[in-house]
Amino acid sequence: MTPPIQNIERLIGSHHGRQPGPNLIFFAGIHGNEPAGIYALKHILDRLQSDAGSFRGNMYAIAGNIKALKGGSRYIHKDLNRIWYPNSIIPPSERNYVAEYREKIDILKLLVSILDNGQPTYIFDLHTTSSHSMPFISISDTLKNRRIIKSIPVHLILGLEELLDGPMFSFFSEMGLPAILFEAGQHQAMSSVENHVAFIWTMLAKLKCISKKRIPGNNDPFTLLKNIPRGQ
Ligand SMILES: [Zn+2]
Repeated sequence: MTPPIQNIERLIGSHHGRQPGPNLIFFAGIHGNEPAGIYALKHILDRLQSDAGSFRGNMYAIAGNIKALKGGSRYIHKDLNRIWYPNSIIPPSERNYVAEYREKIDILKLLVSILDNGQPTYIFDLHTTSSHSMPFISISDTLKNRRIIKSIPVHLILGLEELLDGPMFSFFSEMGLPAILFEAGQHQAMSSVENHVAFIWTMLAKLKCISKKRIPGNNDPFTLLKNIPRGQ
């Protein structure tokens, strides 16, 4: 079981390489009852910090619905993953009392400050599901997005953004930023943390922030994902 998150700030942590390169931005806990991604990001940031290997570019770990995460609930007033699209208008009458609009504004401010370095930027949104399910990736179907997930051995589900009303990843995709959603499995399962860890390493290697050799205990990050049991 993964416990709820108590101490959390918007920027969970970041890692910056000596060599210039892309910004990889990982969001976790957009839903407050999905702490697995946060545990996985903290784990990876610790590993990157403690070994002296080279790193290209910048990795950022960003917390989603902080108020909801602290209470372990999916959201406070509105689902933070349903208020991004078709546009970013926030009704003035709701701005001050709907907690998620404050979270959204805060996230956008941080994102703008990261984009200020002018590097190519990739967004990853880490989620889990209420029932036991096999991990899957979802994207808005663009060439940019397809290029990133090419050869990643995880099921791809397209059209999710047409079923969901206003998810964050499709909003970023519309902005022209490659954006990938990853569902790691059930909310409380330790395997969901492990699947997130495998996915994050895989993306860091795929976008050449690290060499495959830097993946602890496994030189082929794709093997980590290939070994995820199917159909669970
Ligand atoms: Zn979610």
